[in-house]
Amino acid sequence: QKGSIEVICGSMFSGKTEELIRRIRRVQYARRNLMIFKPQLDDRYSINEVVSHNGLSAMAQPVANANDIIQRVHADVDVIAIDEVQFFNEEIVDVVNQLADSGHRVIVAGLDQDFRGVPFGSMPELLSMAEYVTKLHAVCVVCGEPASRTQRLINGKPACYDDPIILVGASEAYEARCRRHHEVPLGIS
Ligand code: ADP
Ligand code: MG
Repeated sequence: QKGSIEVICGSMFSGKTEELIRRIRRVQYARRNLMIFKPQLDDRYSINEVVSHNGLSAMAQPVANANDIIQRVHADVDVIAIDEVQFFNEEIVDVVNQLADSGHRVIVAGLDQDFRGVPFGSMPELLSMAEYVTKLHAVCVVCGEPASRTQRLINGKPACYDDPIILVGASEAYEARCRRHHEVPLGIS
């Protein structure tokens, strides 16, 4: 059986999409059949592409929920790549397992923590089920050390604990920070 799960995780700007696209290119060089998915929710740069912050891109199918991925995968597909996997609901765990059990190489990329530093959605399950895990780091914008956290800014100030967990955005709302420089004030409520 050749099925397996690879998880690429880390903070925003850590190069997850860049690394996913690097693996996608190698699958294309090998002339294997590939399908790429992303949650519909992520429309930051493009609706039907995965795009990295340094401008790399690959065509992708936007899907509303995890089960849509199962519906769309044909039997002759070798590799399935999914970006922003943290945005799917808990069905994604079964979907990814089912695909790997049926012989597919499944490569997923996603944020391991939300802006508060709390494990994001189904990422803990995906990380523990995966055969291969790659944790990437960005560069802390304050001190230049490796950054494992994502700082959300609202009007230039660190976001509060009660702010909504999902807010799709890029450099205007988020920056990479190390543990020391990451800050989440408690809510006002
Ligand atoms: P992710 O998918 O993890 O958010 P991307 O692959 O889209 O990351 O983007 C990675 C790119 O972001 C890097 O190659 C670099 O050009 C750029 N970048 C911008 N800010 C930073 C930062 N603080 N640390 C590291 N890379 C950064
Ligand atoms: Mg990305």
